[in-house]
Amino acid sequence: MAGVFDIDLESEDLSDAEDEVCGDIPVADTDNTLATEEVELTSASVNRDSERVGPDCFELLTVLGKGGYGKVFQVRKVQGAQTGKIFAMKVLKKAKIVCNAKDTAHTRAEREILETIRHPFIVELWYAFQTGGKLYLILECLSGGELFMQLEKEGIFMEDTACFYLGEITLALGHLHANGIIYRDLKPENIMLNHQGHIKLTDFGLCKESIHDGTVTHTFCGTIEYMAPEILTRSGHNRAVDWWSLGALMYDMMTGSPPFTAENRKKTIDKILKGKLNLPPYLTPDARDMIKKLLKKNPTQRLGSSKADCADIQKHHFFRHVNWDDLLNKRIEPPYRPSLQSEEDVSQFDSRFTRQTPVDSPDDTTLSTDNTFAGFTYVAPSVLESLKEGFSFEPKARHVRRHNSSPHTPISPLKFSLTEPFKTSMDGDIVSPVQSPPFPTETNCVTQPIRTPGRNKKQKGHRSGR
Ligand code: ATP
Ligand code: MG
Repeated sequence: MAGVFDIDLESEDLSDAEDEVCGDIPVADTDNTLATEEVELTSASVNRDSERVGPDCFELLTVLGKGGYGKVFQVRKVQGAQTGKIFAMKVLKKAKIVCNAKDTAHTRAEREILETIRHPFIVELWYAFQTGGKLYLILECLSGGELFMQLEKEGIFMEDTACFYLGEITLALGHLHANGIIYRDLKPENIMLNHQGHIKLTDFGLCKESIHDGTVTHTFCGTIEYMAPEILTRSGHNRAVDWWSLGALMYDMMTGSPPFTAENRKKTIDKILKGKLNLPPYLTPDARDMIKKLLKKNPTQRLGSSKADCADIQKHHFFRHVNWDDLLNKRIEPPYRPSLQSEEDVSQFDSRFTRQTPVDSPDDTTLSTDNTFAGFTYVAPSVLESLKEGFSFEPKARHVRRHNSSPHTPISPLKFSLTEPFKTSMDGDIVSPVQSPPFPTETNCVTQPIRTPGRNKKQKGHRSGR
């Protein structure tokens, strides 16, 4: 079948790794010298001026989405600086940024670390406050929605469109890596568009703790299709995991599904660890070459794994037409501009979250069962309604977006967190989770969000290669 599929089967034997997936996470790092800098997100570390920011500064307007750690709300600031402005609010128990200090020139103050996560293609963190044992993060509201909502509409992206988005994502990841931060969780739901259509990564390698106490506190519940083999085998990993995920995203953008998919989670893991990479024939040689180099199962052979990091990726022929300076400075017109009527417009979000259910007035008895919204100036009926529905911050199934033949696997929560604190070795640049809770059994599977690729009529024939 030469010329139809390129097969990129690595020579290393990963067969033992399969069994480890249900065991404890090994701590590969034997070097006890921790070289991490950590910043806990608090009102003191995040807020930029002396303004006292608390729940009374905000009105809760609607639910925008749900991730592994809780719901994200649209809020309006009603006091102090930026009164009237719309933000996104995320509720967690705790969150911190852990950086590998080795990757940075000097030890930095907390404020300095927080400044370094600022980047044109990374969500901006504006305020934080703590109340009732919870941490509220007030973020830039990304009204363009998830990039993959757009991809769903298109089916697949043309190469120049994919090139634009992948370029912006590459710059964001490179910036985090240069500051010692591994994103670790690059997947479609975490890539959003701002009102102009530019990329924004949600989070920034945050170590999060869900506000939901108990067994799910460290449960990572997410799509595994974009995870690098070395994460799944828990054999220690470094920033090259993000470049694998970029390769998986690139494949998905250009073919309609991630590179390794199967009907269940175990088989998907199996394919990620040992499966051949099938590249449909319609991809250009440059795209094929870059995907193959990013999806090297051995991280030391992966494009981007050298000290040069993103610079190696930027130099790839796939990006030959990109003027990186123009891209960084948003001088390139995005391929798609979200059509938005106002700052509050939530049309780009899943209506399952945003639909307004009329409720006469805020119901105090409902609120008293959960103090999450205590102190807020106003809580919209739809938000209250989500409490009545048994709203919890536990990971919960999201709907299958189109048909049931989704290429994504329904997945169980992985009982370790990709955002756990990681141990870092001074010399090896390898990090491993400090904690090693067990993996779940198939019985506690949670059906997951899943994007089913749409079919672009123009590309119809292209899919036959899958
Ligand atoms: P995970 O760790 O699984 O990625 P999470 O709990 O950290 O999840 P996010 O991914 O940050 O949560 O957010 C969940 C969803 O909420 C996103 O997929 C997106 O739809 C929406 N969302 C997140 N941040 C924003 C934002 N700043 N503006 C608008 N919507 C957002
Ligand atoms: Mg997310």
